[in-house]
Amino acid sequence: MSAPDTQRMWDDVQLLARIVEHTPVAIIVTRTDGRILYVNQCGGEMLKIDRPRLLGAPMSNYITHLEGDLSWYAIHEMLMRGESRQVTGALVCGDGEECVCTIKAFSITTNDSPVAHIYMFIDETEGLSKAEQIESKNVEMARMNSELIRSNSELKKLSELKSSFLSIASHELKTPLTTIKGYSDIIIDGMRDRLDGDVLRMVENINRAADRLHRVVNNILDVTRIEQKRLRLHLEYLKLGALARECIDELTSLAAGRGITFGFQCPESLPDFYGDKLRLHQVFTNLLSNAIKFSPDNSSVEIGIALEEESQFHIVIRDHGIGIDRDEQKRIFDPFYEIGSINRHSTGSSRFLGGGTGLGLSIVKGVVDCHGGRLWVESDGVNKETFPGSSFHIVLPVRSKNSLEEDETEPLVVTAVDAEGRDGDESSPVDAKPDILFVDNDRESIEIARMVLDTAFNVIVAESGEQGLAAAFGRHPSLILLSPAQPGIDGFRICKILKSQEDTRNIPVAFFSSGADGEDIQKYFACGADDCIVKPFNGGDLFEKIWRILMKKKEDATFK
Ligand code: ADP
Repeated sequence: MSAPDTQRMWDDVQLLARIVEHTPVAIIVTRTDGRILYVNQCGGEMLKIDRPRLLGAPMSNYITHLEGDLSWYAIHEMLMRGESRQVTGALVCGDGEECVCTIKAFSITTNDSPVAHIYMFIDETEGLSKAEQIESKNVEMARMNSELIRSNSELKKLSELKSSFLSIASHELKTPLTTIKGYSDIIIDGMRDRLDGDVLRMVENINRAADRLHRVVNNILDVTRIEQKRLRLHLEYLKLGALARECIDELTSLAAGRGITFGFQCPESLPDFYGDKLRLHQVFTNLLSNAIKFSPDNSSVEIGIALEEESQFHIVIRDHGIGIDRDEQKRIFDPFYEIGSINRHSTGSSRFLGGGTGLGLSIVKGVVDCHGGRLWVESDGVNKETFPGSSFHIVLPVRSKNSLEEDETEPLVVTAVDAEGRDGDESSPVDAKPDILFVDNDRESIEIARMVLDTAFNVIVAESGEQGLAAAFGRHPSLILLSPAQPGIDGFRICKILKSQEDTRNIPVAFFSSGADGEDIQKYFACGADDCIVKPFNGGDLFEKIWRILMKKKEDATFK
Protein backbone atom coordinates (compact mmCIF):
# COMPACT_ATOMS: atom_id res chain seq x y z
CA MET A 1 0.00 0.00 0.00
CA SER A 2 1.44 3.40 -1.08
CA ALA A 3 1.93 6.23 1.38
CA PRO A 4 -1.02 8.29 0.03
CA ASP A 5 -3.24 5.15 0.26
CA THR A 6 -2.22 4.63 3.87
CA GLN A 7 -2.86 8.29 4.62
CA ARG A 8 -6.35 8.09 3.00
CA MET A 9 -7.18 4.96 4.94
CA TRP A 10 -6.05 6.57 8.19
CA ASP A 11 -8.19 9.64 7.36
CA ASP A 12 -11.18 7.36 6.71
CA VAL A 13 -10.71 5.62 10.07
CA GLN A 14 -10.48 9.00 11.81
CA LEU A 15 -13.62 10.15 10.03
CA LEU A 16 -15.43 6.96 10.99
CA ALA A 17 -14.31 7.33 14.61
CA ARG A 18 -15.63 10.93 14.65
CA ILE A 19 -18.94 9.81 13.15
CA VAL A 20 -19.33 7.09 15.80
CA GLU A 21 -18.29 9.49 18.57
CA HIS A 22 -20.79 12.17 17.60
CA THR A 23 -23.66 10.08 16.26
CA PRO A 24 -26.89 10.90 18.22
CA VAL A 25 -27.35 7.24 19.17
CA ALA A 26 -25.76 5.83 22.32
CA ILE A 27 -23.13 3.25 21.40
CA ILE A 28 -21.26 1.05 23.83
CA VAL A 29 -18.58 -1.40 22.73
CA THR A 30 -17.59 -4.25 25.05
CA ARG A 31 -14.91 -6.89 24.97
CA THR A 32 -16.13 -10.47 24.62
CA ASP A 33 -15.93 -10.82 28.43
CA GLY A 34 -18.67 -8.16 28.68
CA ARG A 35 -16.44 -5.36 30.03
CA ILE A 36 -16.86 -1.90 28.49
CA LEU A 37 -14.20 -0.85 25.98
CA TYR A 38 -15.71 2.31 24.54
CA VAL A 39 -18.73 4.60 25.09
CA ASN A 40 -19.57 7.35 22.62
CA GLN A 41 -20.56 10.87 23.66
CA CYS A 42 -24.32 10.21 23.45
CA GLY A 43 -23.86 7.02 25.54
CA GLY A 44 -22.11 8.99 28.30
CA GLU A 45 -24.87 11.63 28.27
CA MET A 46 -27.64 9.06 28.32
CA LEU A 47 -26.01 7.19 31.21
CA LYS A 48 -25.17 10.45 33.04
CA ILE A 49 -21.81 8.98 34.05
CA ASP A 50 -18.29 10.27 33.23
CA ARG A 51 -17.12 8.08 30.38
CA PRO A 52 -13.65 7.21 31.85
CA ARG A 53 -15.50 5.70 34.87
CA LEU A 54 -17.36 3.33 32.57
CA LEU A 55 -14.27 1.82 30.94
CA GLY A 56 -13.64 -1.72 32.19
CA ALA A 57 -17.00 -1.87 34.07
CA PRO A 58 -19.29 -4.89 33.40
CA MET A 59 -22.00 -4.12 30.85
CA SER A 60 -24.46 -6.18 32.96
CA ASN A 61 -24.46 -3.36 35.56
CA TYR A 62 -26.13 -0.96 33.15
CA ILE A 63 -28.86 -3.01 31.48
CA THR A 64 -32.10 -4.01 33.19
CA HIS A 65 -35.79 -4.89 32.62
CA LEU A 66 -35.16 -6.60 29.26
CA GLU A 67 -38.36 -7.60 27.53
CA GLY A 68 -39.61 -11.15 28.16
CA ASP A 69 -37.56 -11.29 31.37
CA LEU A 70 -34.39 -11.84 29.32
CA SER A 71 -31.15 -11.54 31.24
CA TRP A 72 -28.09 -9.71 29.96
CA TYR A 73 -26.28 -13.07 30.02
CA ALA A 74 -28.76 -14.52 27.52
CA ILE A 75 -27.98 -11.68 25.09
CA HIS A 76 -24.28 -12.08 25.72
CA GLU A 77 -24.47 -15.78 24.82
CA MET A 78 -26.27 -14.94 21.54
CA LEU A 79 -23.59 -12.42 20.70
CA MET A 80 -20.91 -15.01 21.40
CA ARG A 81 -22.64 -17.28 18.90
CA GLY A 82 -22.45 -14.44 16.40
CA GLU A 83 -26.20 -13.72 16.52
CA SER A 84 -27.68 -10.22 16.79
CA ARG A 85 -30.66 -9.14 18.85
CA GLN A 86 -33.07 -6.21 19.26
CA VAL A 87 -35.01 -5.86 22.49
CA THR A 88 -36.58 -3.18 24.61
CA GLY A 89 -35.10 -2.64 28.03
CA ALA A 90 -33.74 0.09 30.25
CA LEU A 91 -30.36 1.66 30.84
CA VAL A 92 -29.46 2.11 34.51
CA CYS A 93 -28.28 5.71 34.74
CA GLY A 94 -25.82 7.21 37.17
CA ASP A 95 -28.54 9.21 39.00
CA GLY A 96 -30.48 6.01 39.77
CA GLU A 97 -33.09 6.68 37.07
CA GLU A 98 -33.83 4.17 34.35
CA CYS A 99 -34.01 5.17 30.70
CA VAL A 100 -36.32 2.96 28.62
CA CYS A 101 -34.90 2.31 25.17
CA THR A 102 -34.60 -0.06 22.27
CA ILE A 103 -31.35 -1.98 22.44
CA LYS A 104 -29.70 -3.34 19.32
CA ALA A 105 -26.81 -5.69 19.99
CA PHE A 106 -24.45 -7.36 17.53
CA SER A 107 -20.90 -8.68 17.32
CA ILE A 108 -17.87 -7.66 15.30
CA THR A 109 -16.15 -10.87 14.17
CA THR A 110 -12.76 -11.75 12.77
CA ASN A 111 -12.47 -15.14 11.13
CA ASP A 112 -15.99 -15.97 12.36
CA SER A 113 -15.01 -15.34 15.98
CA PRO A 114 -16.51 -12.40 17.86
CA VAL A 115 -13.86 -9.90 18.93
CA ALA A 116 -16.14 -7.17 20.30
CA HIS A 117 -19.84 -6.59 21.01
CA ILE A 118 -21.66 -3.43 19.98
CA TYR A 119 -24.72 -2.16 21.84
CA MET A 120 -26.79 0.69 20.42
CA PHE A 121 -29.40 2.34 22.62
CA ILE A 122 -32.21 4.29 21.01
CA ASP A 123 -34.06 6.48 23.49
CA GLU A 124 -37.73 5.73 22.91
CA THR A 125 -38.80 9.15 24.12
CA GLU A 126 -36.32 10.99 21.87
CA GLY A 127 -38.03 12.97 19.16
CA LEU A 128 -41.44 12.45 20.75
CA SER A 129 -43.70 15.39 21.42
CA LYS A 130 -44.11 16.53 25.03
CA ALA A 131 -47.48 14.77 25.18
CA GLU A 132 -45.96 11.56 23.85
CA GLN A 133 -43.11 11.81 26.34
CA ILE A 134 -45.60 12.22 29.18
CA GLU A 135 -47.59 9.29 27.84
CA SER A 136 -44.44 7.17 27.71
CA LYS A 137 -43.54 8.19 31.29
CA ASN A 138 -47.10 7.30 32.33
CA VAL A 139 -46.78 3.86 30.78
CA GLU A 140 -43.50 3.37 32.62
CA MET A 141 -45.06 4.57 35.90
CA ALA A 142 -48.01 2.25 35.43
CA ARG A 143 -45.57 -0.63 34.94
CA MET A 144 -43.66 0.35 38.10
CA ASN A 145 -46.94 0.76 39.95
CA SER A 146 -48.10 -2.72 39.07
CA GLU A 147 -44.70 -4.05 40.14
CA LEU A 148 -45.11 -2.21 43.45
CA ILE A 149 -48.60 -3.64 43.93
CA ARG A 150 -47.22 -7.13 43.27
CA SER A 151 -44.34 -6.74 45.75
CA ASN A 152 -46.75 -5.19 48.28
CA SER A 153 -49.09 -8.12 48.09
CA GLU A 154 -46.12 -10.51 48.37
CA LEU A 155 -44.96 -8.60 51.46
CA LYS A 156 -48.47 -8.76 52.90
CA LYS A 157 -48.60 -12.50 52.33
CA LEU A 158 -45.20 -12.90 54.01
CA SER A 159 -46.33 -10.80 56.96
CA GLU A 160 -49.52 -12.90 57.32
CA LEU A 161 -47.40 -16.03 57.16
CA LYS A 162 -45.13 -14.63 59.87
CA SER A 163 -48.11 -13.76 62.11
CA SER A 164 -49.71 -17.16 61.75
CA PHE A 165 -46.35 -18.89 62.26
CA LEU A 166 -45.81 -16.88 65.45
CA SER A 167 -49.33 -17.61 66.61
CA ILE A 168 -49.03 -21.36 66.00
CA ALA A 169 -45.52 -21.55 67.47
CA SER A 170 -46.63 -19.68 70.59
CA HIS A 171 -49.65 -21.90 71.11
CA GLU A 172 -47.46 -24.95 70.64
CA LEU A 173 -45.05 -23.57 73.24
CA LYS A 174 -47.82 -23.10 75.76
CA THR A 175 -48.53 -26.78 76.28
CA PRO A 176 -45.02 -27.90 77.33
CA LEU A 177 -44.66 -24.63 79.22
CA THR A 178 -47.77 -25.46 81.22
CA THR A 179 -46.35 -28.82 82.18
CA ILE A 180 -43.03 -27.23 83.25
CA LYS A 181 -44.79 -24.48 85.18
CA GLY A 182 -47.44 -26.76 86.70
CA TYR A 183 -45.00 -29.40 87.91
CA SER A 184 -42.43 -26.91 89.21
CA ASP A 185 -45.27 -25.10 91.08
CA ILE A 186 -46.31 -28.41 92.60
CA ILE A 187 -42.70 -29.27 93.59
CA ILE A 188 -42.05 -25.80 95.07
CA ASP A 189 -45.35 -25.55 96.94
CA GLY A 190 -45.88 -29.13 98.02
CA MET A 191 -42.49 -30.82 98.23
CA ARG A 192 -40.07 -28.16 99.38
CA ASP A 193 -39.47 -29.90 102.73
CA ARG A 194 -38.38 -33.06 100.98
CA LEU A 195 -35.88 -31.35 98.65
CA ASP A 196 -32.29 -30.46 99.29
CA GLY A 197 -31.51 -26.71 99.02
CA ASP A 198 -29.64 -26.87 95.70
CA VAL A 199 -32.36 -28.87 93.97
CA LEU A 200 -35.03 -26.49 95.27
CA ARG A 201 -33.10 -23.48 93.94
CA MET A 202 -32.79 -25.17 90.55
CA VAL A 203 -36.52 -25.86 90.43
CA GLU A 204 -37.21 -22.25 91.45
CA ASN A 205 -35.00 -21.11 88.56
CA ILE A 206 -36.94 -23.35 86.18
CA ASN A 207 -40.18 -21.90 87.55
CA ARG A 208 -39.02 -18.30 87.04
CA ALA A 209 -37.75 -19.08 83.54
CA ALA A 210 -41.14 -20.61 82.71
CA ASP A 211 -42.83 -17.41 83.97
CA ARG A 212 -40.57 -15.28 81.78
CA LEU A 213 -41.18 -17.46 78.74
CA HIS A 214 -44.91 -17.38 79.48
CA ARG A 215 -44.82 -13.56 79.42
CA VAL A 216 -42.94 -13.57 76.09
CA VAL A 217 -45.35 -16.11 74.57
CA ASN A 218 -48.34 -14.06 75.74
CA ASN A 219 -46.79 -10.91 74.28
CA ILE A 220 -46.24 -12.62 70.93
CA LEU A 221 -49.84 -13.82 70.97
CA ASP A 222 -51.04 -10.29 71.74
CA VAL A 223 -48.99 -8.86 68.87
CA THR A 224 -50.34 -11.43 66.42
CA ARG A 225 -53.92 -10.79 67.65
CA ILE A 226 -53.37 -7.08 67.03
CA GLU A 227 -51.83 -7.66 63.60
CA GLN A 228 -54.62 -10.03 62.60
CA LYS A 229 -57.27 -7.65 64.07
CA ARG A 230 -58.39 -10.36 66.49
CA LEU A 231 -57.86 -8.39 69.69
CA ARG A 232 -61.03 -8.60 71.70
CA LEU A 233 -61.89 -5.86 74.14
CA HIS A 234 -64.03 -6.48 77.22
CA LEU A 235 -65.56 -3.12 77.91
CA GLU A 236 -66.83 -1.63 81.15
CA TYR A 237 -67.00 1.79 82.77
CA LEU A 238 -63.75 2.33 84.69
CA LYS A 239 -61.84 5.02 86.51
CA LEU A 240 -58.60 5.77 84.67
CA GLY A 241 -57.14 7.50 87.75
CA ALA A 242 -57.75 4.50 90.02
CA LEU A 243 -56.37 2.13 87.40
CA ALA A 244 -53.19 4.21 86.96
CA ARG A 245 -52.81 4.40 90.76
CA GLU A 246 -53.12 0.60 90.99
CA CYS A 247 -50.34 0.15 88.38
CA ILE A 248 -48.12 2.68 90.13
CA ASP A 249 -48.60 0.83 93.45
CA GLU A 250 -47.70 -2.47 91.82
CA LEU A 251 -44.44 -1.03 90.44
CA THR A 252 -43.48 1.06 93.46
CA SER A 253 -41.18 -1.53 95.02
CA LEU A 254 -39.39 -2.17 91.70
CA ALA A 255 -38.88 1.59 91.27
CA ALA A 256 -37.86 2.09 94.90
CA GLY A 257 -35.07 -0.47 94.43
CA ARG A 258 -33.48 2.08 92.04
CA GLY A 259 -34.42 5.13 94.07
CA ILE A 260 -37.01 6.14 91.45
CA THR A 261 -40.13 7.91 92.70
CA PHE A 262 -43.53 8.44 91.06
CA GLY A 263 -45.47 11.70 90.81
CA PHE A 264 -49.19 11.41 90.01
CA GLN A 265 -51.73 14.03 89.03
CA CYS A 266 -55.34 13.32 88.20
CA PRO A 267 -58.47 15.36 88.98
CA GLU A 268 -61.00 13.70 91.28
CA SER A 269 -63.87 14.61 89.01
CA LEU A 270 -62.70 12.74 85.91
CA PRO A 271 -65.60 10.98 84.12
CA ASP A 272 -65.49 7.20 83.77
CA PHE A 273 -63.86 5.75 80.67
CA TYR A 274 -65.60 2.94 78.79
CA GLY A 275 -62.72 0.55 78.06
CA ASP A 276 -61.03 -2.76 78.75
CA LYS A 277 -59.58 -2.66 82.26
CA LEU A 278 -57.02 -5.47 81.89
CA ARG A 279 -55.76 -4.17 78.55
CA LEU A 280 -55.40 -0.62 79.91
CA HIS A 281 -53.63 -2.06 82.94
CA GLN A 282 -51.21 -3.60 80.44
CA VAL A 283 -50.77 -0.18 78.76
CA PHE A 284 -49.92 1.65 82.02
CA THR A 285 -47.67 -1.17 83.26
CA ASN A 286 -45.70 -1.33 80.01
CA LEU A 287 -45.14 2.41 79.81
CA LEU A 288 -44.28 2.74 83.50
CA SER A 289 -41.86 -0.23 83.43
CA ASN A 290 -40.14 1.26 80.38
CA ALA A 291 -39.92 4.62 82.15
CA ILE A 292 -38.22 2.91 85.10
CA LYS A 293 -36.07 0.74 82.84
CA PHE A 294 -34.63 3.62 80.82
CA SER A 295 -34.18 6.13 83.67
CA PRO A 296 -31.10 6.61 85.83
CA ASP A 297 -31.18 5.73 89.53
CA ASN A 298 -32.73 8.31 91.86
CA SER A 299 -34.80 10.06 89.19
CA SER A 300 -38.56 10.47 88.97
CA VAL A 301 -41.43 9.43 86.70
CA GLU A 302 -44.54 11.62 86.45
CA ILE A 303 -47.97 10.47 85.40
CA GLY A 304 -50.65 12.99 84.54
CA ILE A 305 -54.26 12.42 83.47
CA ALA A 306 -56.43 15.31 82.35
CA LEU A 307 -59.74 15.87 80.63
CA GLU A 308 -59.44 18.04 77.51
CA GLU A 309 -62.44 20.00 76.21
CA GLU A 310 -64.80 17.45 77.78
CA SER A 311 -64.10 15.23 74.79
CA GLN A 312 -60.87 13.38 75.45
CA PHE A 313 -58.62 12.06 78.19
CA HIS A 314 -54.97 13.03 77.85
CA ILE A 315 -52.53 10.78 79.68
CA VAL A 316 -48.84 11.67 79.87
CA ILE A 317 -46.11 9.46 81.31
CA ARG A 318 -42.91 11.46 81.57
CA ASP A 319 -39.52 10.14 82.62
CA HIS A 320 -36.11 11.74 83.06
CA GLY A 321 -34.24 8.94 81.35
CA ILE A 322 -31.94 8.53 78.37
CA GLY A 323 -34.47 9.88 75.85
CA ILE A 324 -35.24 8.65 72.35
CA ASP A 325 -33.76 9.84 69.05
CA ARG A 326 -36.20 11.63 66.75
CA ASP A 327 -35.51 9.08 63.98
CA GLU A 328 -36.49 6.25 66.29
CA GLN A 329 -39.66 7.85 67.68
CA LYS A 330 -41.99 6.22 65.16
CA ARG A 331 -40.15 2.93 64.81
CA ILE A 332 -40.19 2.01 68.52
CA PHE A 333 -43.89 1.17 68.09
CA ASP A 334 -43.04 -1.55 65.53
CA PRO A 335 -43.11 -5.14 66.83
CA PHE A 336 -39.71 -6.52 67.88
CA TYR A 337 -38.06 -3.09 67.51
CA GLU A 338 -35.44 -2.28 70.13
CA ILE A 339 -32.88 0.51 70.18
CA GLY A 340 -29.73 -1.27 71.26
CA SER A 341 -29.46 -3.54 74.25
CA ILE A 342 -29.99 -2.56 77.85
CA ASN A 343 -26.27 -3.09 78.46
CA ARG A 344 -25.43 -0.53 75.82
CA HIS A 345 -27.63 1.97 77.61
CA SER A 346 -25.75 1.55 80.88
CA THR A 347 -23.21 4.21 81.81
CA GLY A 348 -20.58 4.16 84.52
CA SER A 349 -22.87 5.97 86.92
CA SER A 350 -26.29 4.60 85.96
CA ARG A 351 -27.73 1.15 85.71
CA PHE A 352 -30.59 0.27 83.40
CA LEU A 353 -32.24 -2.93 84.38
CA GLY A 354 -34.21 -5.57 82.57
CA GLY A 355 -34.03 -6.60 78.93
CA GLY A 356 -37.08 -6.74 76.70
CA THR A 357 -38.38 -8.24 73.52
CA GLY A 358 -39.33 -5.06 71.69
CA LEU A 359 -43.00 -6.05 71.85
CA GLY A 360 -44.25 -3.88 74.72
CA LEU A 361 -44.84 -0.64 72.83
CA SER A 362 -46.41 -2.32 69.80
CA ILE A 363 -48.95 -3.94 72.15
CA VAL A 364 -49.54 -0.60 73.89
CA LYS A 365 -50.15 1.03 70.50
CA GLY A 366 -52.46 -1.78 69.38
CA VAL A 367 -54.56 -1.51 72.55
CA VAL A 368 -54.75 2.29 72.35
CA ASP A 369 -55.70 2.12 68.65
CA CYS A 370 -58.41 -0.44 69.42
CA HIS A 371 -59.90 2.01 71.95
CA GLY A 372 -60.03 4.63 69.20
CA GLY A 373 -57.16 6.55 70.80
CA ARG A 374 -53.76 7.90 69.76
CA LEU A 375 -50.28 7.28 71.16
CA TRP A 376 -47.07 9.17 70.50
CA VAL A 377 -43.77 10.00 72.13
CA GLU A 378 -41.94 13.29 72.55
CA SER A 379 -38.24 13.48 73.37
CA ASP A 380 -35.33 15.77 72.57
CA GLY A 381 -33.16 12.81 71.59
CA VAL A 382 -30.83 10.42 73.37
CA ASN A 383 -28.28 11.63 75.86
CA LYS A 384 -26.88 9.31 78.48
CA GLU A 385 -25.19 12.15 80.38
CA THR A 386 -27.86 14.87 80.53
CA PHE A 387 -30.95 12.60 80.45
CA PRO A 388 -33.43 14.63 78.37
CA GLY A 389 -36.20 12.10 79.16
CA SER A 390 -39.22 11.01 77.15
CA SER A 391 -42.94 11.76 77.39
CA PHE A 392 -45.41 9.17 76.15
CA HIS A 393 -48.81 10.70 75.34
CA ILE A 394 -52.09 8.84 75.05
CA VAL A 395 -55.33 10.46 73.98
CA LEU A 396 -58.52 8.46 74.54
CA PRO A 397 -61.99 9.63 73.48
CA VAL A 398 -64.63 10.25 76.13
CA ARG A 399 -67.61 8.22 75.04
CA SER A 400 -70.40 6.10 76.26
CA LYS A 401 -71.30 2.50 75.69
CA ASN A 402 -74.00 3.61 73.24
CA SER A 403 -71.74 5.87 71.18
CA LEU A 404 -69.18 3.08 70.91
CA GLU A 405 -71.72 0.55 69.76
CA GLU A 406 -73.08 2.99 67.17
CA ASP A 407 -69.61 3.69 65.81
CA GLU A 408 -69.51 1.35 62.83
CA THR A 409 -66.02 2.38 61.77
CA GLU A 410 -64.58 1.03 64.99
CA PRO A 411 -61.91 -1.58 64.19
CA LEU A 412 -62.22 -3.48 67.45
CA VAL A 413 -64.03 -6.57 68.52
CA VAL A 414 -66.10 -5.56 71.50
CA THR A 415 -67.95 -7.45 74.20
CA ALA A 416 -69.27 -6.09 77.43
CA VAL A 417 -67.76 -7.66 80.54
CA ASP A 418 -70.14 -10.54 81.00
CA ALA A 419 -70.15 -14.25 80.57
CA GLU A 420 -67.91 -14.14 77.48
CA GLY A 421 -64.48 -15.66 77.95
CA ARG A 422 -61.66 -13.15 77.63
CA ASP A 423 -59.62 -15.54 75.56
CA GLY A 424 -62.55 -17.17 73.82
CA ASP A 425 -62.65 -15.80 70.31
CA GLU A 426 -59.12 -14.46 70.43
CA SER A 427 -57.55 -17.88 70.42
CA SER A 428 -56.49 -19.40 67.17
CA PRO A 429 -58.06 -22.51 65.71
CA VAL A 430 -55.02 -24.53 66.81
CA ASP A 431 -55.84 -23.66 70.41
CA ALA A 432 -57.61 -26.63 71.90
CA LYS A 433 -57.47 -25.47 75.51
CA PRO A 434 -60.38 -26.65 77.65
CA ASP A 435 -62.80 -23.92 78.82
CA ILE A 436 -63.17 -23.47 82.57
CA LEU A 437 -66.14 -21.40 83.72
CA PHE A 438 -65.90 -19.53 87.01
CA VAL A 439 -69.27 -18.40 88.36
CA ASP A 440 -68.00 -16.03 91.00
CA ASN A 441 -67.77 -12.30 91.61
CA ASP A 442 -64.62 -12.49 93.73
CA ARG A 443 -62.39 -10.78 91.17
CA GLU A 444 -59.18 -11.04 93.19
CA SER A 445 -59.33 -14.84 93.48
CA ILE A 446 -60.28 -15.14 89.83
CA GLU A 447 -57.32 -13.05 88.70
CA ILE A 448 -54.96 -15.26 90.72
CA ALA A 449 -56.63 -18.38 89.33
CA ARG A 450 -56.38 -16.93 85.84
CA MET A 451 -52.63 -16.39 86.23
CA VAL A 452 -52.10 -20.01 87.28
CA LEU A 453 -54.46 -21.53 84.72
CA ASP A 454 -54.08 -19.23 81.75
CA THR A 455 -51.42 -21.29 79.99
CA ALA A 456 -53.50 -24.46 79.90
CA PHE A 457 -57.14 -23.38 80.02
CA ASN A 458 -59.49 -20.75 78.68
CA VAL A 459 -60.80 -19.04 81.77
CA ILE A 460 -64.38 -17.78 81.37
CA VAL A 461 -65.88 -15.62 84.08
CA ALA A 462 -69.52 -15.00 84.94
CA GLU A 463 -70.14 -12.61 87.79
CA SER A 464 -73.80 -13.46 88.39
CA GLY A 465 -75.83 -16.64 88.61
CA GLU A 466 -77.84 -15.84 85.47
CA GLN A 467 -74.70 -15.14 83.43
CA GLY A 468 -73.22 -18.36 84.79
CA LEU A 469 -76.17 -20.45 83.59
CA ALA A 470 -76.14 -18.74 80.20
CA ALA A 471 -72.41 -19.42 79.78
CA ALA A 472 -72.78 -23.04 80.93
CA PHE A 473 -75.53 -23.78 78.40
CA GLY A 474 -73.95 -21.64 75.67
CA ARG A 475 -70.32 -22.73 75.95
CA HIS A 476 -70.44 -26.24 77.44
CA PRO A 477 -67.21 -25.72 79.37
CA SER A 478 -65.04 -28.64 80.48
CA LEU A 479 -65.42 -27.65 84.13
CA ILE A 480 -67.54 -25.22 86.16
CA LEU A 481 -66.23 -23.67 89.36
CA LEU A 482 -69.14 -22.34 91.35
CA SER A 483 -69.18 -19.92 94.23
CA PRO A 484 -72.03 -20.69 96.69
CA ALA A 485 -73.07 -17.01 96.66
CA GLN A 486 -72.91 -14.31 93.98
CA PRO A 487 -75.43 -11.79 92.62
CA GLY A 488 -78.55 -13.52 91.28
CA ILE A 489 -79.19 -17.24 91.43
CA ASP A 490 -77.05 -18.92 94.12
CA GLY A 491 -74.55 -21.70 93.55
CA PHE A 492 -76.71 -24.49 95.01
CA ARG A 493 -79.59 -23.80 92.65
CA ILE A 494 -77.26 -23.45 89.67
CA CYS A 495 -75.67 -26.78 90.50
CA LYS A 496 -79.07 -28.50 90.78
CA ILE A 497 -80.24 -27.01 87.47
CA LEU A 498 -77.04 -28.07 85.68
CA LYS A 499 -77.19 -31.61 87.04
CA SER A 500 -80.87 -31.96 86.12
CA GLN A 501 -80.42 -31.05 82.45
CA GLU A 502 -79.44 -33.58 79.80
CA ASP A 503 -77.23 -30.99 78.14
CA THR A 504 -75.09 -30.08 81.14
CA ARG A 505 -75.38 -33.10 83.44
CA ASN A 506 -71.94 -34.47 82.51
CA ILE A 507 -70.02 -31.23 83.02
CA PRO A 508 -68.08 -31.58 86.28
CA VAL A 509 -69.02 -28.93 88.84
CA ALA A 510 -66.80 -28.00 91.79
CA PHE A 511 -67.69 -25.49 94.45
CA PHE A 512 -65.11 -22.73 94.81
CA SER A 513 -65.62 -21.26 98.22
CA SER A 514 -63.80 -19.54 101.06
CA GLY A 515 -63.24 -21.24 104.38
CA ALA A 516 -65.73 -24.07 103.76
CA ASP A 517 -66.12 -26.48 106.71
CA GLY A 518 -67.28 -30.10 106.76
CA GLU A 519 -70.95 -29.14 106.90
CA ASP A 520 -70.66 -26.81 103.91
CA ILE A 521 -68.86 -29.46 101.91
CA GLN A 522 -71.64 -31.95 102.64
CA LYS A 523 -74.18 -29.43 101.30
CA TYR A 524 -72.14 -29.01 98.11
CA PHE A 525 -72.11 -32.73 97.41
CA ALA A 526 -75.78 -33.01 98.37
CA CYS A 527 -76.80 -30.73 95.51
CA GLY A 528 -74.82 -32.79 93.00
CA ALA A 529 -71.36 -31.20 92.95
CA ASP A 530 -68.41 -33.38 91.96
CA ASP A 531 -65.74 -31.66 94.02
CA CYS A 532 -64.83 -28.63 96.11
CA ILE A 533 -61.86 -26.23 96.03
CA VAL A 534 -61.37 -24.12 99.11
CA LYS A 535 -60.11 -20.51 99.04
CA PRO A 536 -57.50 -19.23 99.68
CA PHE A 537 -55.88 -21.71 97.38
CA ASN A 538 -52.33 -22.46 96.43
CA GLY A 539 -51.55 -22.08 92.69
CA GLY A 540 -49.99 -25.52 92.30
CA ASP A 541 -52.84 -27.23 94.21
CA LEU A 542 -55.50 -25.50 92.16
CA PHE A 543 -53.82 -26.50 88.94
CA GLU A 544 -53.36 -30.09 90.09
CA LYS A 545 -56.91 -30.41 91.38
CA ILE A 546 -58.46 -29.09 88.21
CA TRP A 547 -56.28 -31.39 86.18
CA ARG A 548 -57.39 -34.38 88.30
CA ILE A 549 -61.09 -33.50 87.96
CA LEU A 550 -60.70 -33.29 84.17
CA MET A 551 -58.73 -36.56 84.02
CA LYS A 552 -61.41 -38.30 86.10
CA LYS A 553 -64.13 -37.03 83.80
CA LYS A 554 -62.16 -38.39 80.83
CA GLU A 555 -61.74 -41.80 82.52
CA ASP A 556 -65.44 -41.95 83.45
CA ALA A 557 -66.36 -41.16 79.85
CA THR A 558 -64.02 -43.89 78.56
CA PHE A 559 -65.39 -46.59 80.85
CA LYS A 560 -69.04 -45.74 80.36
P1 ADP B 1 -38.94 -3.67 75.25
O1 ADP B 1 -39.89 -4.72 75.69
O2 ADP B 1 -37.71 -4.21 74.62
O3 ADP B 1 -38.69 -2.61 76.25
P2 ADP B 1 -40.66 -1.83 73.91
O4 ADP B 1 -41.48 -2.09 72.72
O5 ADP B 1 -41.35 -1.58 75.19
O6 ADP B 1 -39.66 -3.04 74.01
O7 ADP B 1 -39.72 -0.61 73.60
C1 ADP B 1 -39.00 -0.58 72.37
C2 ADP B 1 -37.75 0.25 72.53
O8 ADP B 1 -38.10 1.63 72.73
C3 ADP B 1 -36.91 -0.12 73.75
O9 ADP B 1 -36.02 -1.17 73.45
C4 ADP B 1 -36.20 1.17 74.05
O10 ADP B 1 -35.03 1.26 73.29
C5 ADP B 1 -37.16 2.26 73.58
N1 ADP B 1 -37.90 2.86 74.73
C6 ADP B 1 -39.13 2.51 75.17
N2 ADP B 1 -39.51 3.28 76.21
C7 ADP B 1 -38.48 4.12 76.45
C8 ADP B 1 -38.24 5.17 77.40
N3 ADP B 1 -39.16 5.50 78.32
N4 ADP B 1 -37.07 5.83 77.33
C9 ADP B 1 -36.14 5.51 76.38
N5 ADP B 1 -36.29 4.53 75.46
C10 ADP B 1 -37.44 3.86 75.49
